[in-house]
Amino acid sequence: MNAKKILITTESHEIFVLRTDRRDRAYGHCRECDREVEIVTLDQAISISGIRTRDLVRMAEISEIHAIETETGHLLVCKDSLTAGTDPTERSSNESHKSHGTSE
Ligand SMILES: [Zn+2]
Repeated sequence: MNAKKILITTESHEIFVLRTDRRDRAYGHCRECDREVEIVTLDQAISISGIRTRDLVRMAEISEIHAIETETGHLLVCKDSLTAGTDPTERSSNESHKSHGTSE
């Protein structure tokens, strides 16, 4: 219940609100998905997807994944866009269908 709120200024000077829970997961509103998604750091994105840094950066540039670049140069990645682009058989071990009906 003690969700932390972190305000991030993106490179385009937008304020991006990140919420973290006790398990250190961060959530924010992805403009591409137009809903709240789990946001991971570049390092986490590499671990989750197994995609190398330079490939992730390139994918972010061509909008294959949804990335938010902060003013401080950190790249945050929309986890949904990350897992959507990968082979579905890859994530069968981690099946967690989130169907929160919070957003209409
Ligand atoms: Zn997204």
